[in-house]
Amino acid sequence: MPKYVYDFIEGDRSRADLLGGKGANLAEMTRLGLPVPPGFTVSTDACRVYLATGSPPAGLFDEVNAHLREVEARLGRWLGDPHDPLLLAVRSGGRYSMPGMMETILDIGLNDATVEGLAARLGDERFAWDSYRRLIQMFGRTVYGIPAEEFEHALESVRATAGAAGPSAGQLRDLVETYKKIFSRQVGHDFPQAPHEQLFVAIRSVFESWNSDRARIYRRRERIPDDLGTAVNVMAMVFGNLGPDSGTGVAFTRDPATGAPGVYGDYLADAQGEDVVAGIRNTIPLPELERLDPVSFRRLMEIMATLERHYRDLCDIEFTIERGKLWMLQTRVGKRTAAAAFVIAAQLVDEGLITLDEALHRVTGAQLAQLMFPAFDTTDAPAPLAVGVGASPGAAVGRVVLDSAAAVAADGPVILVRPETNPDDLPGMIAAAGVLTSRGGKTSHAAVVARGMGRTCVCGADALRIDPERGEFTVGDRVVRAGEVISIDGTTGQVWAGELPVQPSPVARYLDGELAPQADPLVTAVHRLLGHADAVRRLGVRANADTPADAGRARRLGATGIGLCRTEHMFLGPRRELVERLILADGPEQVGAALDALLPLQREDFTGILAAMDGLPVTIRLIDPPLHEFLPPLAELTARVAGAQARGEDPGRDGVLLAAVRRMHEANPMLGLRGVRLGLVVPGLFAMQVRAVAEAAAQRVRDGGDPRPEIMVPLVGDVKELAAVRVEAERVLAGVPGAPPIPIGTMIEVPRAALTAGEIAAEAHFFSFGTNDLTQTTWAFSRDDVEGSFFADYLERGIFPVSPFESIDTRGVGRLIRLAVAEGRATRPELTIGVCGEHGGDPDSVAFFAAVGLDYVSCSPYRVPIARLAAGRAAV
Ligand code: PEP
Ligand code: MG
Repeated sequence: MPKYVYDFIEGDRSRADLLGGKGANLAEMTRLGLPVPPGFTVSTDACRVYLATGSPPAGLFDEVNAHLREVEARLGRWLGDPHDPLLLAVRSGGRYSMPGMMETILDIGLNDATVEGLAARLGDERFAWDSYRRLIQMFGRTVYGIPAEEFEHALESVRATAGAAGPSAGQLRDLVETYKKIFSRQVGHDFPQAPHEQLFVAIRSVFESWNSDRARIYRRRERIPDDLGTAVNVMAMVFGNLGPDSGTGVAFTRDPATGAPGVYGDYLADAQGEDVVAGIRNTIPLPELERLDPVSFRRLMEIMATLERHYRDLCDIEFTIERGKLWMLQTRVGKRTAAAAFVIAAQLVDEGLITLDEALHRVTGAQLAQLMFPAFDTTDAPAPLAVGVGASPGAAVGRVVLDSAAAVAADGPVILVRPETNPDDLPGMIAAAGVLTSRGGKTSHAAVVARGMGRTCVCGADALRIDPERGEFTVGDRVVRAGEVISIDGTTGQVWAGELPVQPSPVARYLDGELAPQADPLVTAVHRLLGHADAVRRLGVRANADTPADAGRARRLGATGIGLCRTEHMFLGPRRELVERLILADGPEQVGAALDALLPLQREDFTGILAAMDGLPVTIRLIDPPLHEFLPPLAELTARVAGAQARGEDPGRDGVLLAAVRRMHEANPMLGLRGVRLGLVVPGLFAMQVRAVAEAAAQRVRDGGDPRPEIMVPLVGDVKELAAVRVEAERVLAGVPGAPPIPIGTMIEVPRAALTAGEIAAEAHFFSFGTNDLTQTTWAFSRDDVEGSFFADYLERGIFPVSPFESIDTRGVGRLIRLAVAEGRATRPELTIGVCGEHGGDPDSVAFFAAVGLDYVSCSPYRVPIARLAAGRAAV
């Protein structure tokens, strides 16, 4: 027979999978000899059988009864004994804490007979009847779903007629009768009087609460798997509501908000645990317990110190004092804010409880990310106007502008509000404090570009009706006009009308070199842990940067090179016209002239970036997107030409442009003429870029610098594509005297490149995985469309727990990466391999890239510290 029930003295904290977190920790405290009421845990295995078959495993309740008898023998009291009944608490407790998501039922064992016995034993009739009514209420609500108001109304009317001291025993006895009637009316049978039946029904209902709507929603948000199931803890009741020498409290062994040392908690005299949670009466700060009950207080302090030393971490606890006797009801390694996580990890190192390696595992990249952004103080905030997708974290406040030009022209901070953004909006995005869109998800243009720039962005706020023509947007019947101030939170996706107060991030200021490491305990802790991550990590961290300013910032934030410089970004703004000239060129001469005009500008771009990254590698990617992206949109141009024609005017250049746009139109441009394909069919384009890189490097050498450019070819699918580019590039390089050797490598961003990586490596000095395109092409998911379309549904159904554009799909895309790494290195053992898709800044993905043996990750400058920390964590 499989075993499904474990006494608290049988388990320990290593068995949280089986006993749930709460059960495992109750067992651990029992083992440590701490005062835990006797009890046992029904395992998650039993729950999983129940969830799979709809009934408990055979023999479960016999096993429960056997354990119950042991508890009864230890206490000398029996469940259902009419003279001195044992009462039980039944609590859920899964592997991961899901506070308040599942059920708890207290006072099991009370019925019409035992209530009298309890009253006699405690000498407190009121208490006994009050406990009985609590049981019927909790049982009715949680097991049978009786609406809470049914009981609340009855309770209120009794309270209204009671004196200041509360309802009398007689009133409570009557209330129990009323509750029993409510129960029978709602459920269709009487409240179960048999204590063992109460217990079994309660256990089943805890199993079922695993699949309640709120539990499912919580799990999805916290990425807790749906198939774990919960354990059920059955424990002898102790009472905190037996008068002034009783009470209940929660406590932390350090401050979970700031990490400051010293116990921290709340206590409520003469109360049960749920009264504290419900906030019915005001609690007192824990230190005041010393005055009320010095003996219990001292014992509690000793226990908390024991727990901290034993768990070597911040613990939170729940305790009850029953007539001067202290009982521990729960402990666990406590939840804490991101700031407290860093501070506590550093303190525990100083206290000799953990090593620096362990400290790295006490903090996460996501926590560091949170600490780097300014945050709103939402204490007195009104309800948000709308909620979209938090696409690029931060807190931005500014006046509403509805187009890019207005953002550029504005004085003072503005929020650029657009239905969606495109490359034309780039100047406005640079000028704005934040970006808000009504369409698109986390990989929409707005989101990707904003993250790259560290600009706060909320996208996909679909309640917004944006009307740039009228200069306003509406949410329901609220109209927000251009010029009005709004506040957007890029972490939570919330949007408010008006200005919310913002707190700057000391961590960001430290990382940017503005604050000394000693500035405050948090900054010191971040400094130490990041320093240790750098010392132990094997993975390099580079940045994706296209401007000298970004390169400089990335370097300050700890990047040791640029892993992706997207050159197409250099063709925007005023240079677009030069690209237009290239596209419209008629014959080799005009093409040559257009390229000649671009060459010095590109050279200047590269010189600046190479200077900012002097001595470090700079991977410059040749132009990638389809050329028509540099032309006006078809619809706009058609309208302009039609307008001119209607007015009888000559559309002039617009007419020529329109013809070009039509000629170049592709139904599926992402799969069309872009990347290496463009370089091969537009003669001279790549050569111009390669020349600009080489000349810039030669200039830097002449100026005494140490330039280390690398040239990267995008979207290669076949080695012959790369070989053709390489022949031409090497011809150009040979003609530029004074340039250092410049490696030529390729992105691996289509499945065929990964599958033929062994062949491609023969022509490549390095690989860099473009995981944005590799994800797009492996899944056949359009990176520009899916997040605003069916992704929400996919996440809801659990087809994936997180967008594969956000965190690398290790099983599918990851498999291609492993294959390409192995076959690439088999051909060329010294091959340098990195990644430069968005995943390079995602902590979970960084762990994967470290595990598959990449040499570096490259991410947006602001994510560099996060990647450093994640790479350090992956190494210890
Ligand atoms: C990629 O595809 O992952 C990549 C880095 O290139 P881009 O995002 O510019 O297509
Ligand atoms: Mg790409």
